[in-house]
Amino acid sequence: MISYEKGIKIEGVPFFLDARTKADFSFVSHAHFDHIAPHRKVLATPETLLFFRHRYKKTTGRALPLRRKQTVEGVKIELFPSGHILGGAQILLEHRGKRIVYTGDFTLSPGWTSPPAEVPKADIVIMESTYGLPRYQFPTREEVADLICRKVEEAFAEKKTPVFLAYPLGKSQEAAKLLGDRGISVLVHSSIFAICKIYERCGVAFKKLDVLSNQSTAKKAVILPPYLWRSRQVAQISPKKSFFLSGWGLDGGSRQSFQADEVLPLSDHADFAQLLAYLEEAQPEKVYTLHGFVEFAEILRQRGFDAQSLEAPTAAPNLDPVSQAVEFLPSLFKQS
Ligand SMILES: [Zn+2]
Repeated sequence: MISYEKGIKIEGVPFFLDARTKADFSFVSHAHFDHIAPHRKVLATPETLLFFRHRYKKTTGRALPLRRKQTVEGVKIELFPSGHILGGAQILLEHRGKRIVYTGDFTLSPGWTSPPAEVPKADIVIMESTYGLPRYQFPTREEVADLICRKVEEAFAEKKTPVFLAYPLGKSQEAAKLLGDRGISVLVHSSIFAICKIYERCGVAFKKLDVLSNQSTAKKAVILPPYLWRSRQVAQISPKKSFFLSGWGLDGGSRQSFQADEVLPLSDHADFAQLLAYLEEAQPEKVYTLHGFVEFAEILRQRGFDAQSLEAPTAAPNLDPVSQAVEFLPSLFKQS
């Protein structure tokens, strides 16, 4: 009934969920590149549509606000916040007598620019399992906020510019919002600044924010997309200390993998405990997992859930943290 190839397809539902290649019609949970393609027609929140059109100029979009029941091509649907980035949404479909929820990427932690995920009651849950191993336990957002700001102050004390590497959509705005609200001046790359402007149109206000050009970076924090790390623009910032913002920072070897001085565990995903907490609240009769560790489905079965992965199993569980981080790197760098 539910399959995952070019995207998630539910038998009898005339649109994909997060189609990965160009489709006639797809629901888009959020506008990260690993969840979008230049579809002919898109169903998404108004914010996600703005980001989508920023990335793919032409598309026909149907904007659906959160928590408003609609019937789309004969299917009753409702969107709920996912917490992942601004505009991120889960979709609930009432189909053939079942309540089916697709979470998209989600977190139960409140962000600095978006509310946390809600947990609708569901018969079937299709959920991401990016951090679906027990060792992934994130610190609280407050602890991560204090850590980031402490690193900035330490870099300033050493007369170095703190440079944060973060995906241009979502993570960068979270960091810019946090730092500005804590009174720290922030310079961001123009690609990040353009997305900050869309955030502002959606009601998110940034303080002490400017676009990075040739100005002095003394006593300022800089936020850049990871792919620019080896650029001339970055080489001109000296001396500096670099921080990659990623949940993979929990893995011991991630610093070398990300080629930064430090990896700070700011994540916009659920950690292992949150994945379980979500299911305990939703109480589904069936769980489908995707993205990340296929072993998570086995862990759920051991805990009494009827769970299966929508992705092919790996030959053997890979439990080495460094190689896992490296394995995920290519998709992480694209996930902007
Ligand atoms: Zn995402």
